[in-house]
Amino acid sequence: MERIDVLVVGAGPAGSAAAIHLARGGARVLLADKARFPRDKPCGGGLTGRALRHAPCDVSAVVEHTVDGFVFRAGYRTRVARRSAGPRSERTQRRRLDAHLAERAAEAGADFRPASAVSELDANGRVGARVGGDRVRASYVIGADGANGIVARAAGIGEGIVCGVALEGNVPWSELDRASYAGTAWVEAGVVPGGYGWVFPKGDHANLGVGGWLAEGPRLRGHLDRLAREHGVDPATLGDVRGHRLPMRRLGAPAAHGRVLLVGDAAGLVDPLSGDGIYEAFVSGRLAAEAILDDRPETYEAALAAALDRHAHASWTAKRALERFPRACLWALRAPGVFDAVAELLRGDLAHPRDARRLAQPPLRALSRLARLAGPA
Ligand SMILES: Cc1cc2nc3c(=O)[nH]c(=O)nc-3n(C[C@H](O)[C@H](O)[C@H](O)COP(=O)(O)OP(=O)(O)OC[C@H]3O[C@@H](n4cnc5c(N)ncnc54)[C@H](O)[C@@H]3O)c2cc1C
Repeated sequence: MERIDVLVVGAGPAGSAAAIHLARGGARVLLADKARFPRDKPCGGGLTGRALRHAPCDVSAVVEHTVDGFVFRAGYRTRVARRSAGPRSERTQRRRLDAHLAERAAEAGADFRPASAVSELDANGRVGARVGGDRVRASYVIGADGANGIVARAAGIGEGIVCGVALEGNVPWSELDRASYAGTAWVEAGVVPGGYGWVFPKGDHANLGVGGWLAEGPRLRGHLDRLAREHGVDPATLGDVRGHRLPMRRLGAPAAHGRVLLVGDAAGLVDPLSGDGIYEAFVSGRLAAEAILDDRPETYEAALAAALDRHAHASWTAKRALERFPRACLWALRAPGVFDAVAELLRGDLAHPRDARRLAQPPLRALSRLARLAGPA
């Protein structure tokens, strides 16, 4: 029987971030993932400024493309386009980002074991589990095993999570007019219930995707084909088409029980408006590591709520408004100061739309009133 301080289940951004912070803090960490690395994960690969700010290490080596332009449309028609002096977000591929982060965790001293599924998890008191073929006993377990993980279920937590679903595919640059897409993120609102469509540029290809409520699952392929056609792409040329769940937690949903702490998608931390989760994965990984290093796991949920809930509340509000009134949202984006406020939110310079400059306040307040009219999401 192997004895360690912390078993981290899953080596996505959340698990590797937690392992890096724990190893740097002197803990004996086992970072186990069932997949062989490098492995891919359905994801737009967008790293917002706030994600980069909270990354547990330098990730510039795996950034493929910088986005400084943004086109926002409603119903594939009316559009708002903006370009900024600095980058709005960076683009990577998850097979590269996740391998990079896991390597940094191993460098920091974590025992990284790919191709090692965790099973038979007993989370009562000290943690026991099977990792690949070995039996392991740990003082703590971090559930970083994503949207379909086992840790939350084994610990009897993970309730209060609503799921969305997204489907994405890639096309080589030869399929698109590169000048309109390089350096620019296209967002298509009002085309999928509970979400949006996107075209994101990458190094040698572009990523097209659609996401929405879980119930939209059977219709997602149709939505993706329509998105492709609207951008002049033959849907038959889309490669690597894959879908994945987007777990979004209701505020106050449990994220820890005893010595089990959930991070990233396992805790349902995907942003309800954007569908992004890498920033939340980095933040929750660090907070879980800090609570464990202090030997005070009971502080984790409050720290998580303090870091993320205000923004998540604003995102739920904006999601309601965007779903019911996409054209009004477009109007608000055109109003002076609003686009800058969105950019500041993505960079992490603004914690909440309410903190935006005075100029942006009237349209943002109008959106908030619309969200109330729209009712619960
Ligand atoms: C189509 C799509 C597009 C997206 N685009 C973006 C984007 O552009 N930007 C952004 O910020 N976010 C995006 N997201 C969200 C983002 O991908 C997730 O929030 C992020 O991957 C969460 O990281 P994680 O580490 O919590 O989980 P994951 O990245 O899902 O990692 C979980 C890991 O756990 C492992 N695992 C599972 N079970 C076990 C087990 N029993 N034993 C061992 N290992 C196990 C898995 O193999 C996996 O490696 C997108 C999501 C989707 C679906």
